[in-house]
Amino acid sequence: MGKKLTSREEDYSKWYNELVVKADLAENSGVRGCMVIKPYGFAIWEKMQAGLDKMFKETGHENAYFPLFIPKSYLSKEASHVEGFAKECAVVTHYRLKNAEDGSGIVVDEDAKLEEELIVRPTSETIIWDTYRKWIQSYRDLPLLINQWANVVRWEMRTRLFLRTAEFLWQEGHTAHATEKEAVEEADMIMHLYADFAENHMAVPVIKGTKTESERFAGAVETYCIEALMQDGKALQAGTSHFLGQNFAKAFDVKFANKEGKQDYVWATSWGVSTRLMGALIMTHSDDNGLVLPPKLAPIQVVIVPIYKGEEQLNAITEKVNPLVKELRSKGISVKFDNRDTHKPGFKFNEYELKGVPVRLAIGQRDLENDTFEVARRDTLEKETVAAEAIIEKITSLLEDIQTNIYSKAKTHQQSHITNVETYEEFKKVLEEKGGFVAAHWDGTIETEDKIKTETKASIRCIPIDVIEEEGKCMVTGKPSSFRVLFAKAY
Ligand code: AMP
Repeated sequence: MGKKLTSREEDYSKWYNELVVKADLAENSGVRGCMVIKPYGFAIWEKMQAGLDKMFKETGHENAYFPLFIPKSYLSKEASHVEGFAKECAVVTHYRLKNAEDGSGIVVDEDAKLEEELIVRPTSETIIWDTYRKWIQSYRDLPLLINQWANVVRWEMRTRLFLRTAEFLWQEGHTAHATEKEAVEEADMIMHLYADFAENHMAVPVIKGTKTESERFAGAVETYCIEALMQDGKALQAGTSHFLGQNFAKAFDVKFANKEGKQDYVWATSWGVSTRLMGALIMTHSDDNGLVLPPKLAPIQVVIVPIYKGEEQLNAITEKVNPLVKELRSKGISVKFDNRDTHKPGFKFNEYELKGVPVRLAIGQRDLENDTFEVARRDTLEKETVAAEAIIEKITSLLEDIQTNIYSKAKTHQQSHITNVETYEEFKKVLEEKGGFVAAHWDGTIETEDKIKTETKASIRCIPIDVIEEEGKCMVTGKPSSFRVLFAKAY
């Protein structure tokens, strides 16, 4: 298993990187900024996908798939969109390689230059809206509620496993509506859906809000977001939902005949969450012993480790464990009986602790005699002995309890890290000494926002949706402001 993890206190960033690798979630690859997601990490992502996919379908969305490549001309049709993404695009220029004439290896065949260069999608609005033009003619074709699960590429310069990678997996929803109101409602509904998923599946509390103009998605009229707070006091944008107005409909000439028979441009939304959610999950709950997973997303919810000498004892334990495994599975609980004889119990305990398995059962000779199990919960590391006849009930209630407990713990941390400040001095002090979200008055200008970001590295994370009107003065310029916005240093 190797040596212990670096502690969070010692070096939070190092702790995170080590944990991702040691818990077998992901690792860096031969391609800069691109990661390999390992089976255990992918199993968690699959559970996230399944949960979200169900929610999307329950709210009327269908899945489809659009191409990986986007013709360069498409990307330039929406002016602010291309401006936002141009700096981080991977471009395909050729479609063939050949042997170098001097025998030095393989080179690009200059005779195989693409007539029009292709962009590897950084997001798919352009190719999708080019397609929607063919799908939408009348109000009867609306709303169009489509989602796709895909990979995208943004040539990020500073990358971190899961949190920010050059290629990442995500889902992107792209909807088309007959009215502005409907599109706004859709974007808002999805923000709430994301928050619901984050809080009730991931056990990650989030703040819902809208972005300021400078943090808005390129091409959006309004960006709704959910913001989470990590244990080191830094914020993480966990999901975004955009109201796109008629920007893409106009750029791609997508019109429809409304009920009165008049032609109008279609209203749009787009929304996405990515493998960054894995980073949010890890950073919110885990501790110095390893991963702590919410039972709802844990690939293995219960692990059973036998403690035995010789085959006879193992057989007796197996006989006791098999019906339990069967019954837990019939209740939809994922359970693993780790009877490998290649590893010692102590090694297995460490491994499952590192991997965040919520409940661990151990059973040895004495438990056989007493008809008991030793039960350990990963979140608090508490252990107790439980009678075999009560074990199913114990496990079921523990799984629920762990799910709520890690949520409350994270919620308490989040609530105690939202600080109101009045002056810029106070603002800098809180950022420096405590971190977290800082609620302050701001004059609403991009100049002040930029100045604060340059001087303190804190950005406006969002204008919370439940913001309270309150007369105040911008902490930097003293100009009037009528509500507080949330600042934080962010990943
Ligand atoms: P956007 O299309 O920019 O609104 O981003 C959609 C979602 O993907 C948001 O939840 C982002 O936090 C996330 N995201 C953006 N860039 C990256 C990246 N480089 N790696 C992982 N996730 C990302």
